[in-house]
Amino acid sequence: MSRENTFNFSAGPSVLPDEVLEIAAAEMLDFHSCGMSVMEMSHRSSVYMDIFAETKANLKRILNVPDTHEILFLQGGASTQFSMVPLNLMGENGLADYAVTGNFASSAAKEAAKYGRVNISADTSSDGHTRIPVQAELKLSKDAKYFYYCANNTIYGTEWHYIPETGGVPLVSDMSSNILSEEIDVSKFGVIFAGAQKNMAPAGVTLVVIDKSLAGNELPITPLMLSYKRMIDKDSMYNTPPCYSIYMLGLVLKWLDKQGGIKAMAELKKEKSALLYDFLDESRLFKGCARPEARSYMNVTFTTGDKEMDALFAKEAAASGFLNVKGHRSVGGMRASIYNAQSLEAVKALREFMKDFEVKNHG
Ligand SMILES: *Cc1c(COP(=O)(O)O)cnc(C)c1O
Repeated sequence: MSRENTFNFSAGPSVLPDEVLEIAAAEMLDFHSCGMSVMEMSHRSSVYMDIFAETKANLKRILNVPDTHEILFLQGGASTQFSMVPLNLMGENGLADYAVTGNFASSAAKEAAKYGRVNISADTSSDGHTRIPVQAELKLSKDAKYFYYCANNTIYGTEWHYIPETGGVPLVSDMSSNILSEEIDVSKFGVIFAGAQKNMAPAGVTLVVIDKSLAGNELPITPLMLSYKRMIDKDSMYNTPPCYSIYMLGLVLKWLDKQGGIKAMAELKKEKSALLYDFLDESRLFKGCARPEARSYMNVTFTTGDKEMDALFAKEAAASGFLNVKGHRSVGGMRASIYNAQSLEAVKALREFMKDFEVKNHG
């Protein structure tokens, strides 16, 4: 098995563009003839500060981040934001609204309940998280400090196809698995966060885009490293940032520009996901797990409805070079993650493989 004859559908960390890895490899030992690799230089050196500033500026342009908001490159993964958000935004005995549409949102709500009061605005667990609540269904609190939702549910393969209306309550969104897949109006959000390892870069850096007016109200118990205000004041460099992952993010952003930016990705994701969903809708063997109106563009979940058949599919797929199509251990079935770096060719090939498997196993 080699990279040339495999397609990687991993949910995260996930596939990166060949071109990005090739540049990283070429620059590995000696970055731009400075005598060392990016991993070996001071984060305060001028060479590194240039990488950092360029990456941040490119992200600001690509995501169209207004001057009211700050971009932070943090550590601890998206999961650390489950704590950082309530610690900084809830205030003493504060209240926050959470929409629970999957495991990650559920963990975030449980974490927030340690620091204040949590109102569950919606909970789709009784439907196996196969759907997304509609606006009218959301039970919103007037005095909530923020409304929290997970924009794309990586495990269940569902995605919010609208931005909730909260009547002025700041929106907090976990966009770990769909950031950079579609243009968004950042000014509508109080906090957007995303672990890098789905759609941006290798693991190690967590992106936070925060409305600066929300920072500075953290609870007194807030750990030193978990204050948004401190990280804003220090431009993400209170301590050593995840230097190499930020550099890799910079390379991915340059690649993204070459592809035509977010606009091109938004077009491509429709084409890629339709190839799989259209097939699933016609299939006599497979069916999609998420309800059609809630389907994710990034994570396509499906099953045969039979555990042994699912296992056989995942095994044969892997043997044929379609790697990591097994569903998350908590839900079973299959999942094809088709983030920005996933090629149309890979998706077409997977669809053909599924067709062949269906003919072989379902007459
Ligand atoms: C992967 C993922 C997480 C967890 O990310 P870590 O960086 O591993 O903490 C949280 N939310 C969503 C939506 C994810 O896809």
